[in-house]
Amino acid sequence: MDFDKKAITGPRASLAGGADRPTRTTASHEADRLVSAGRLEDDDAVELKLRPRRLAEFVGQTKAKEQLKIALEAARSRGEALDHVLLFGPPGLGKTTLATIIANELDVGFQQTSGPALQVQGDMAAILTNLKPRQVLFLDEIHRLQPVMEEKLYTALEDYQLDIMIGTGPSARTHVMRIDPFTFVAATTRPGLLSSPLRSRFGILLRLEFYTDDELRWVVERSAEVLSVPIDHDGAAEIAMRSRGTPRIANRLLRRVRDYAEVRASGRIDRPTAVAALEMLEVDAHGFDELDRRLLRTIIEKYDGGPVGLNTLAAALAEEQDALEEVYEPFLIQIGFLDRTPRGRVATRLAYQHLGIEMPRKPTLFG
Ligand code: ADP
Repeated sequence: MDFDKKAITGPRASLAGGADRPTRTTASHEADRLVSAGRLEDDDAVELKLRPRRLAEFVGQTKAKEQLKIALEAARSRGEALDHVLLFGPPGLGKTTLATIIANELDVGFQQTSGPALQVQGDMAAILTNLKPRQVLFLDEIHRLQPVMEEKLYTALEDYQLDIMIGTGPSARTHVMRIDPFTFVAATTRPGLLSSPLRSRFGILLRLEFYTDDELRWVVERSAEVLSVPIDHDGAAEIAMRSRGTPRIANRLLRRVRDYAEVRASGRIDRPTAVAALEMLEVDAHGFDELDRRLLRTIIEKYDGGPVGLNTLAAALAEEQDALEEVYEPFLIQIGFLDRTPRGRVATRLAYQHLGIEMPRKPTLFG
C-alpha cells in the first residue's frame, strides 16, 4: 500500500457548521493543522464516540469538576434547575463535553447552539420556547453573540421570560412569553470579551486548564480502548507529551498514529512506533508544528525577539489575529515560550533554546 503523509493526515476542510452545530471560524492555516486545538471536520464523528458521558469518566480538571459536583448535588437535592454555567478556556479542553455531562448528570435533555448560529431573534425565541423544564441549553462561542441577542437573553436567564416585538413602526407591541426554567451553559475561549452584565448572569464559572501529560495519557488510553486500538503505556505517554495539553489533539494524534502503526508496523502502538509516526507528521517533542516554529522564528529574527504587536505579527505570518490569540498563543504562553506584555509579544529564552538560536544579551545601563 502506498503510504504517505497525506494518507494519514486525512482531509482538512472548512469548519462551517449546520444550524445546530457550532460554527468555528479559524484562519485557513489553523483549519489545516494536525495540532490545531480547534475542531476539524474529520474530528466530528469520532469525537462523539470518544466523549465521556459522566463526570466520573472526565479526566483531569479537578478544580472545575469539584465545583460542578457540589453544584449538581445541591440542585438535585433541591429539585431545581442548576444555576447557569459559564465554561471558559482554550479550545479542545472539554467545554462541550462538560456541557453534555451536565445534562446527563441531571438526567435532562440537551440542546446545542452557538453565538454565530443565532442570527435572527426568531431563532432564539424558537429555541427558548421549545425547551423542556430544567433542560440544558448549551451556547458555544458566546463571545460572538450579537449584542441585540445578548439583551434578549438577559430576561430569559433571569426571569424565564422573553420579550418579543410584534410588528414594526407605531403599531409595534411587545409580547411577553413565559419559558420553562432551564439551565444555561455557555462556553467561550475569550471570557474577557463578555460584557459584565452578561457575565453576572452566571452563578457558576468554570475555568478549564491545559491538561498534564499524565492526564492526557489517561485520555489516550481511554480513547484507544473505545476505538479498540492496541497501545502500551509508553506509546500513550509519547502521544500525550506531544498533544499540547489538549485532549482533542491527543485523540487526533492517536488516530493518525494508529493509521501509521497499521500500515508501517505491527498495528500495536508502542513508543518507537509513536515517535516514528509523529516525526513523520512533523509534530515535535513539544507538540509544535511548522507554524509554531515559524511564529517564534518570526518574532526572534524579524523583530529581535519582540515585543511585537499582535496585528504586526499576524500580518507577518499571514494569519488571523483571532486565531493567533485564541489558538496558537495560549499553549506557547503556558509552556513559557512566549510572553504577552503590554507592548506586545516577546519570545522567551526557552524559545531561543528550542530553535537553537543564541539569545542576544540585553544592553545594560553600562553598555
Ligand atoms: P471544547 O468544547 O472545549 O472545544 P470538547 O468538549 O469538544 O472541547 O472536547 C474535544 C474532545 O476531547 C472531546 O470529543 C472528547 O473526546 C475529548 N475530551 C475533552 N475533555 C476530556 C476529558 N476531560 N476526558 C476525556 N476526553 C476529553
